[in-house]
Amino acid sequence: MKIAMVLRKDEYTREVEQLVRKKLLQSGTYQFVTDPAADPDLVLSIGGDGTFLEAVHQYGFAPHYVGIHTGHLGFYADWRPDEIDQFVQALDEGNPVIVEYPTAECQIHTADGKTHTEWVINEIVLRNASLSTLVVSVFINGKEFETFRGDGLIVSTPSGSTAYNKAVDGAIVHPSIEAIQLSEIASINNRMYRTINSSLVLPRHHEIELIVMNPQIMIGLDREQDVWKGVRSITCRVGSRKVKFARYKQLSFWERVRKSFISE
Ligand code: NAP
Ligand code: MN
Repeated sequence: MKIAMVLRKDEYTREVEQLVRKKLLQSGTYQFVTDPAADPDLVLSIGGDGTFLEAVHQYGFAPHYVGIHTGHLGFYADWRPDEIDQFVQALDEGNPVIVEYPTAECQIHTADGKTHTEWVINEIVLRNASLSTLVVSVFINGKEFETFRGDGLIVSTPSGSTAYNKAVDGAIVHPSIEAIQLSEIASINNRMYRTINSSLVLPRHHEIELIVMNPQIMIGLDREQDVWKGVRSITCRVGSRKVKFARYKQLSFWERVRKSFISE
């Protein structure tokens, strides 16, 4: 089995990585690779959810992913550093349950006629590049829905629903539901301007089109963020591909939600 690792850059994560590597090598059947071109079977992310986001964008849809969290309990990592022996044993035994998480896909159309296609596992964020209002016409399945004025809009995946989306009171969506969620960041609502002011959850094959009025905006794609000039519109839908997790132990999504947000 070919394994690639993606690490958070801190001393403790390094130590955990050294230990995992040593124990896996002792068991003998693993080969470590460092390049997506080497087609790893398994990508091991050691760090936080942010580390995992980095890993999926580096290695894409082919491998299976598994995570060890070196900080607090993560949404994308199952194992604690004090469980390395059990982890190695589980890997040796094989037979993980493969769980697939939906992604979101977007096409960014710019004034020069170009289309940039991107995908995310957490969310796409739109904000104005300055502190003035972001103005966006929202179309759903080709029909005008509303004009948004405010700080920003988030289109999140189910697994991203516990991240930025949750901070703006979006709903938490179970990752077995193939959907995208549109959430508002500080919309202006008065007699002049009106938005729905609730998060919308859309199924596969539905499309959100965001017509951008600002000359430049900030676009966030998971960890990556950039200022884009001349964006005309962004269309978002449930992604055609899913990210595959190797589950060697059972921790239900709702348990994870409870442990992360209510109490351990
Ligand atoms: P970060 O600043 O470390 O991330 C903020 C927090 O979000 C961290 O605690 C991170 O966990 C957690 N997180 C990431 N993905 C999550 C998920 N799917 N469910 C629950 N929590 C999650 O930056 P980062 O590590 O590069 O992560 C990027 C993400 O930060 C973005 O995708 C966005 O969702 C989130 N974010 C949130 C806000 C907000 O809540 N107001 C604002 C900006 C960005 P770790 O500590 O384990 O990395
Ligand atoms: Mn982080």
